[in-house]
Amino acid sequence: MTTRTPLMAGNWKMNLDYKQGLSLVEDLGDALKGGDTDAVEVAVIPPFVDIRTVQTAIDANKYPIAYGAQDLSEHIGTGAYTGEVSGEMLTALGCTYVLVGHSERRQYHGEDENITNAKVKAAIAVGLTPILCVGEGLDERKAGKQVEYTLAQLEGGLEGLSNEDAGRVVIAYEPVWAIGTGEVATPEDAQEVCGAIRDALGGLFDDEVKETVRVLYGGSVKSSNVGEIMAKDDVDGALVGGASLKADEFAKIALYQ
Ligand code: PEP
Repeated sequence: MTTRTPLMAGNWKMNLDYKQGLSLVEDLGDALKGGDTDAVEVAVIPPFVDIRTVQTAIDANKYPIAYGAQDLSEHIGTGAYTGEVSGEMLTALGCTYVLVGHSERRQYHGEDENITNAKVKAAIAVGLTPILCVGEGLDERKAGKQVEYTLAQLEGGLEGLSNEDAGRVVIAYEPVWAIGTGEVATPEDAQEVCGAIRDALGGLFDDEVKETVRVLYGGSVKSSNVGEIMAKDDVDGALVGGASLKADEFAKIALYQ
């Protein structure tokens, strides 16, 4: 059986300037001390403008924390794309991860499957690991269409990838109705869709992809509920928003204490 190292990633969204980000990453580094950080991968996903500061603090203190960005341009290389940040710029800053297709990007910036697919490919092209976010809204959940809807986003986001490239992606299942609402999916809800994602990966790609790709759950994860969610077979980590802005709480989540 394949063992997948859990990934516990904190999405800071549009919070914390670089000074506040520095305090948070230092406090998080301290809070993780003494914990078993060999057994999990902990990552922070700050706003673009904080990344250089976060990088410097992590490198200087050898914190066991990876980091990434919340978005990237679908354009590769350089060019006249005002306001865009390329994947190459992120790898130059030592980023490991980049979120793609977060529901807030889909909702407020009209990102559809074509864009998420292009961004997944742009990330892979420069060696970043895309965390492709998928998940249904309340209407689809009420209609019992959560699996169908989420798998359509998954297929669209991964279209055209080779087995090798698909094996480098992380998937985050984030039911939109549970993001920032305090409404957490039950562990069984999370398992239902995360398991369906894994099965779908097996249909779209080879068995190695199915067994090795990490599928995270996101949506109002806290230290009080992370343990039961992480106990589910097909949940390999968490994407955490609000609760990742408090160092002690995020450290507890990351170590699932
Ligand atoms: C998120 O934005 O990815 C998220 C899961 O947010 P929250 O934990 O605040 O629900």
